[in-house]
Amino acid sequence: MSNLERDPGETECGGRGGAAGPVSEPLPGREVVLGGPRGMKVTRTLPGREIRTVGAWCFLDHYGPQRATMRVPPHPHTGLQTVSWLVEGEVLHRDSLGSERTIRPGQLNLMTAGRAISHSEESPRDGTLHGVQLWVALPEAHRWTDPRFEHHPVLPVLAGPGFTATVLMGELDGVVSPARIHSPLIGAEISLEAGAEVRIPARPDFEYAALALEGAARVEGIDLARGPLLYLGTGRPDLRLRAERPARLLLVGGEPFEERIVMWWNFVGRDHDEIAGFRRRWTAGEGFGTVPGATAAPLPAPEMPTVPLKPRGRRRA
Ligand code: MN
Repeated sequence: MSNLERDPGETECGGRGGAAGPVSEPLPGREVVLGGPRGMKVTRTLPGREIRTVGAWCFLDHYGPQRATMRVPPHPHTGLQTVSWLVEGEVLHRDSLGSERTIRPGQLNLMTAGRAISHSEESPRDGTLHGVQLWVALPEAHRWTDPRFEHHPVLPVLAGPGFTATVLMGELDGVVSPARIHSPLIGAEISLEAGAEVRIPARPDFEYAALALEGAARVEGIDLARGPLLYLGTGRPDLRLRAERPARLLLVGGEPFEERIVMWWNFVGRDHDEIAGFRRRWTAGEGFGTVPGATAAPLPAPEMPTVPLKPRGRRRA
């Protein structure tokens, strides 16, 4: 038997066991409901069952568009950055550094937890919410860094025939986001015009994945609509995108993140005992500060699992 595909390797291999080269693998998300009767329904594609990280991106929730109220009481984070991006609606962020910022579509809220931070998020009024919440794992050299909050009301844009790409994090074809990053990565929102047929320059040493925020597009020959995260692997000099109708994509990527991490609740750490220590400190009210102006009591941490948490690599072993 011979493989008669003209472009072999793009749809096979499944990305399992490494990211050595281009693949096109849709990663289905899980539906998760975040708290309360008017709670938000999200599609969580990272961490996935098979693929846990894309670059250092380790968490990806896509919510809406839906009429919902976001009410996330104060809760802690360690070892990560939270990246908040909206397509529609407004979200008010407050944190233990005293930051208080509303983001609107096209603006970036970036919170670097470093060794410890706590924050709350709420939508100021009932209305339509549509956006993504992502986390970036901090590498060993930076994970105990001072907590920090950045609000970027305006972000740089890469534009070409048929598309504009807003660079949230990292660099795309020489266009650099002002957001502080701690490992080589990219996060961008790409708007495609009707009939667009574009090639976005890519780095062969980066792995990439794409998510449809609005509409549908053809990404490296695969139809992508709302739902899955399309994992694209490494080794690509560019990314080929097409759209019949206007569409909006989220592109994430980066140098494959080789550190083994433990993600539990809102913490990123390196082993069970470290996570248990974070939980103990949060429960004791030590080290995570308080959130001025918060309208709800801090979230209690869930119980630790009875089975020890194991550090995991980027792929299911
Ligand atoms: Mn959070």
